[in-house]
Amino acid sequence: MSLPEPAEVFAPVDRDLRACGLSLDVVYAFLGTLELDSELVAEPQLGAAVESLAFHIQAAVLENLQGIRGGRPWPVCQGQHPHPMSLDSDGQGGWPYWYCPKNPSYRFTVGEHPGG
Ligand SMILES: [Zn+2]
Repeated sequence: MSLPEPAEVFAPVDRDLRACGLSLDVVYAFLGTLELDSELVAEPQLGAAVESLAFHIQAAVLENLQGIRGGRPWPVCQGQHPHPMSLDSDGQGGWPYWYCPKNPSYRFTVGEHPGG
C-alpha cells in the first residue's frame, strides 16, 4: 500500500495557512517537540492524511498564538468570530473541511479557506 506524497498532503494546509497570513515556515518555528514525520500523515487515503496534518498544525498554532506575530485563531472564522473554525470530515477518507462551531452550515473544504 502506498501513502500519499507529502507534498500533496501539505499543499492544502499550507494554502489555508497562507490565506490567513501564516505559513508552514512560521508554524514550524513553534512546533517544538511535535515532529512532522511521516507517521503524522501516515494515512493511506489523501483526505485522511490531510485531516491529520491539519489537526496537528491547528493545535500547534493555537498553542503558540502568543508567540506568533499577529497570531489569530486559525483558521479565521466568519466575520469577527473569536473562535477558530472546527475541523471535521464525512469519514471514510472523505476530504476534510473547516466549519463554524456556531453555524455549521458555514464551512469550507480544507485548501479552499477564503482567508480573512
Ligand atoms: Zn464562527
